[in-house]
Amino acid sequence: MLETRLKDVLRTTTRHLNKLESLGIKTAGDLLINFPRTYNDRSDVTSIANLSLTEVNTVRGIITHIFSKKTRNGKLMTMAKLTDETGTAGIIWFNQPYIKRMLFNGTEVVMMGKAKMSFGNITLQSPTFELQKEEQIHSERIVPVYHETEGINSKWIREKIKPLIDEWTKYFKDYLPTEIVEKNKFLTLGEAIKNIHFPENEELLNKARERLGFDELFILQLRALQKKWQWQQVTSADNISIPQNIELIKEFLSKLPFELTGAQKKTLYEILLDMEKPYPMSRLVQGDVGSGKTIVAVAAILNTVKAGFQIALMAPTEILAKQHYSSIYKFLLPYGFNIQFISGSTTESQKKEIVGQMKKGTVDIVIGTHALIQENIGFKKLGLAIVDEQHRFGVKQRSVLKSFGSPHLLSLSATPIPRTLAMTLYGDQDLSVIDEMPKGRQEIITRLIPENKRIDAYRWIEDQVKKGRQVFVICPLIDESDTLGVKSVTQEYAHLKENIFPHHEIGLLHGKLKSNEKSKIMEDFSANKISILVSTSVVEVGIDVPNATIMLIEGAERFGLSQLHQFRGRVGRGEHQSYCFLFTGSQSQEANQRLASMVKYSSGFKLAEIDLALRGPGEIYGVKQSGIPDLKLASLTDSISIEKARMEANAIIEVDPELENYPRLKEKINQLEDVYVKD
Ligand code: ADP
Ligand code: MG
Repeated sequence: MLETRLKDVLRTTTRHLNKLESLGIKTAGDLLINFPRTYNDRSDVTSIANLSLTEVNTVRGIITHIFSKKTRNGKLMTMAKLTDETGTAGIIWFNQPYIKRMLFNGTEVVMMGKAKMSFGNITLQSPTFELQKEEQIHSERIVPVYHETEGINSKWIREKIKPLIDEWTKYFKDYLPTEIVEKNKFLTLGEAIKNIHFPENEELLNKARERLGFDELFILQLRALQKKWQWQQVTSADNISIPQNIELIKEFLSKLPFELTGAQKKTLYEILLDMEKPYPMSRLVQGDVGSGKTIVAVAAILNTVKAGFQIALMAPTEILAKQHYSSIYKFLLPYGFNIQFISGSTTESQKKEIVGQMKKGTVDIVIGTHALIQENIGFKKLGLAIVDEQHRFGVKQRSVLKSFGSPHLLSLSATPIPRTLAMTLYGDQDLSVIDEMPKGRQEIITRLIPENKRIDAYRWIEDQVKKGRQVFVICPLIDESDTLGVKSVTQEYAHLKENIFPHHEIGLLHGKLKSNEKSKIMEDFSANKISILVSTSVVEVGIDVPNATIMLIEGAERFGLSQLHQFRGRVGRGEHQSYCFLFTGSQSQEANQRLASMVKYSSGFKLAEIDLALRGPGEIYGVKQSGIPDLKLASLTDSISIEKARMEANAIIEVDPELENYPRLKEKINQLEDVYVKD
């Protein structure tokens, strides 16, 4: 029934139907789940004696003295009086000829509008109105306000939805298990939909929001947990259990020049424990930039290769992948593993050779970019797949890994986000958090530099460069068309080179460069052949140059806090005191406040919280790529509801992962899947 096309349900014009269709509303069901954007509380009716000159009034009365006339400048003016038991007010409308066809002397109406004094009389200015009926839908109640488009306003939608609500909500079959509805004292689906549009009172509106908001989170959690269950399904042929070789790991760790932090140890332990199980791990490690995720991964790699399995490590950019390659190579040098690198710039013949070895099983570890999951790739016995900065990859790309047998999956992320948000975005993975920095890590001194101190800052930087330090200069995109930021970064580069630091080596890095050009520049920067590197946000993740101590960010207001924090993490990696200088062209108080939190806080988790509160989850890195649909009622920051939804979903997946006993839930999830996995 709910699939009935609107043209068979509504009495309206094709033009209106097309408009609705452009809003994605095609069926009766679509219209009913087009929830209000907000509400106006029009439940308070004032009397004419108490009309306010500042607020919008809702007032009930009888029309008298109605007439229209043309003004001298050709406008149509309609005037009337409205009377109730407390007094009489004037009414005036301009250019609304239909009013005279709807209102007559003696008509009872409810009017809504602002009032003004004119010629000593209080007068309602172009009020909207509703004829007195048994049930008001535009006034004297909590009135729903919808997303509007030209030709389709809230009033129109209300009028069309109301009769459907009364007739059709019964066709919504509740998909939530009755136990959950009863236990949480939720409204049924039908009641909730009725009350989300035309709530009888505030309390029922809240109940409707609570129920429908829960549904959104619950479905997401259910899907995530089901995904995890699917990931963990293995055929009896896949023996994926990898025992912990405690001696090996102890020995490896004892040779490091540092001791692992408590958080690193705990995370490593969680990983090794997972990998011992007979089904594949699905774990996400979150840790601030510099918290030392790599070494944890390396220990897991070592354990896995020694047990006779292969490793794939995938990073989102060539620079990062290269860096992983060289640091992993160094750490594991004593073990004599065969470690290979594959990226877009690997030649076809090299690739063929490496892939051949991967399939034969003679390559132990292969590190690379997306190239790693392209066609023709294969492994003899892949034990562990590691995805660095996983939010840069789509859901699909990750699932490709599953086709190489049933490897354990370890994702690494340097974008710290609050736990419950992570639980929703990456709910198909277990979470480890490295929330502790290695000992002796210095605080990076962060300053917001006013424009009139720019020259001083440059002089000071010059001084640092003379002492041998290195500098990043990050430029934002300046216009939409310049998607890679080539223009702004090139201009800034030329300016710094000619006018500011003519005596120093300056490098330029942006996304348009060929990958060997990029590598060359990064190598030169690493080797301190370049002192100042002017770059777009491509340096954002992972780059490790311990001698770089200054991070200068132009147009800082154009970046989110999480991203700024990522940039800042590029410095402070060595022995020297490091600095982050922020410049902004923005006068906006909001922007300046946001940048002030950069100055104040050094914890990525803290900044992520602020970012989330200020900009909402939609803006935060990864939300879009994660495939989470827009939530209408729930909030990704509502940790209490998320926990509750997670718990209820878990209880179901534990006993019935394929939802055999919950066909409606199953259908709901499949629908979600359709919208979701587009990438
Ligand atoms: P990220 O978590 O950002 O990937 P890395 O793994 O690159 O961080 O680690 C940053 C640096 O800190 C590396 O040079 C690494 O060798 C070093 N490091 C890692 N763990 C520790 C530790 N416990 N104590 C001191 N230095 C460490
Ligand atoms: Mg890293």
